[in-house]
Amino acid sequence: LLRVSDTIQNESNCVLIFFKMLPSPRKNLIVIALACLCLSACQQPSNEHVVHQIATLHALSQGAYDGTMTYKQLAQYGDFGVGTYDKLDGEMVALDGDFYQIKSSGIVSKAGATQTTPYSSIHFFHSDSTSFSGALESFDALKTKLSSLIQHKDRVYGIKIKATCSGLKLRSPKRQEIPYLPLADVLKDQSIFNKENITGTFVGYYSPADLGAITAPGFHLHFISDDRKTGGHVLDLTITRAEIYLDELSGLQLHFSDTSQ
Ligand SMILES: [Zn+2]
Repeated sequence: LLRVSDTIQNESNCVLIFFKMLPSPRKNLIVIALACLCLSACQQPSNEHVVHQIATLHALSQGAYDGTMTYKQLAQYGDFGVGTYDKLDGEMVALDGDFYQIKSSGIVSKAGATQTTPYSSIHFFHSDSTSFSGALESFDALKTKLSSLIQHKDRVYGIKIKATCSGLKLRSPKRQEIPYLPLADVLKDQSIFNKENITGTFVGYYSPADLGAITAPGFHLHFISDDRKTGGHVLDLTITRAEIYLDELSGLQLHFSDTSQ
């Protein structure tokens, strides 16, 4: 995968990866069925039901915090997703076409069209399946529940959960200034929000570990409350009841950082 990315980076600003089940049951692998090398084609929203990945987790982890795509541009690629803002200025939640910014102060606002993102995962959410759950005592318990619902562990799934939570632990990073520190160092000084008795929506993705250099592996969820006053990246939770909506995606379109825009 990385070899393919390296090969096309000088010619294009994106690569399209489709997930495919191997006929052999010995192991589920991700197969690159098609790499889209055409710049003009990649700038148009794809007809395929794919997640759009803006830059890579590897780049973000190394301190690539400068925004490279405006939220006006990002909205072309989806109405649902997670990410962050220029200079790592808070968490992003996209839900029903609205883009929210949860700053380290805890204040929630809507993103302006000219604000930019250095890293986001986004797509147009269409629910494939709906499930209901009673009490879940932790994020790990939710992950176990979600794992039982996800049929193809080698694919990316959009996850939307409407929930009543008796407890919630969220975080948001602090806005960074140059010289940027690596993400692991920045997160040692993040803001933590502990909330009780709150209703809202979890927004995020399941991604296979194989994609760990590109997007967050495993379960990556953000939260936005029904009153739109609380949100953040989910660290832990206690759910009373939940409606779980899953959206199995057919591929991932990676958009390389384009600093010319
Ligand atoms: Zn996050």
